[in-house]
Amino acid sequence: MDALRIGVVGCTGRMGRMVARCVDQTEGCELAGGTDRADCGAIGRDLGELAGIGPRDLIISDDPAAMIAKADAVIDFTTPEALLRHAELAAQAEAGYVVGTTGLGAEQQAALERAGLHTAVVQAANMSLGVNLLLALVERVGSALDGDYDIEIVEMHHRHKVDAPSGTALALGRAAAKGRGIDLEKAAQKVRDGHTGPRRRGDIGFATLRGGDVVGDHTVVFAADGERIELTHKASTREVFARGAIRAALWCRGKPPGLYTMRDVLGLG
Ligand code: NAD
Repeated sequence: MDALRIGVVGCTGRMGRMVARCVDQTEGCELAGGTDRADCGAIGRDLGELAGIGPRDLIISDDPAAMIAKADAVIDFTTPEALLRHAELAAQAEAGYVVGTTGLGAEQQAALERAGLHTAVVQAANMSLGVNLLLALVERVGSALDGDYDIEIVEMHHRHKVDAPSGTALALGRAAAKGRGIDLEKAAQKVRDGHTGPRRRGDIGFATLRGGDVVGDHTVVFAADGERIELTHKASTREVFARGAIRAALWCRGKPPGLYTMRDVLGLG
């Protein structure tokens, strides 16, 4: 089988560079090219050099249409605004579209649904195997424990992260809510400040920490009178997200159009 040609949008970002490096090192995959914003400061540079793997004769451009037309799959760790165009182009090219970008609003989510009518789209707030296992575990624990167990989700990320709570924390909240048979939108307490009054039974609380170079820590706490359960995942390198995204891109090959999750990719049901 021919190597899967993977295009990296946002290729000069923290994740973009890591994805480019990992694609280059993954058997059965090759880089189709990389794009970023016109003002990113790296347009015209060699993608391989930027990713630290040596020259690859692939020039970074600000033209995603031309790059995506040459790709079998596209990996997107950019911004919600940028995603709208990338989703449309991936759908037009019928390229597998793997979306790790977080902080999406209703407009972006609708764009992914639309793209999923034309091509295989995998969307995950967290591409790591460990977190996707954690999601399954949290749903299970959520269904086993009743409202006597208060659910709180604590996350910490590096100082550059711009959205909060993290997409993974929200996904963990949705998993806990699903297990418990409630709606996260109604139960979520994303901010507490000042005289909040006592905790409301059934709420799912979030706490956000930002600092240093923390790649991503998440803990889900189930706290009752007399005991508590804490389920924790810690990522120590961005490589786990890049490898997960590449696995998703490979999985997309030959799949019917649809909007899929990492649980589909990993066969976690
Ligand atoms: P970053 O700021 O380092 O990189 C984002 C890149 O996107 C930058 O290079 C930026 O120039 C580029 N970009 C912005 N607008 C663009 C446009 N219009 N066209 C092309 N490129 C554009 O951020 P990061 O740490 O790499 O994270 C990126 C996103 O991925 C965030 O939403 C983050 O939360 C998410 N993320 C998800 C996972 C996961 O597993 N799903 C893991 C890590 C990060």
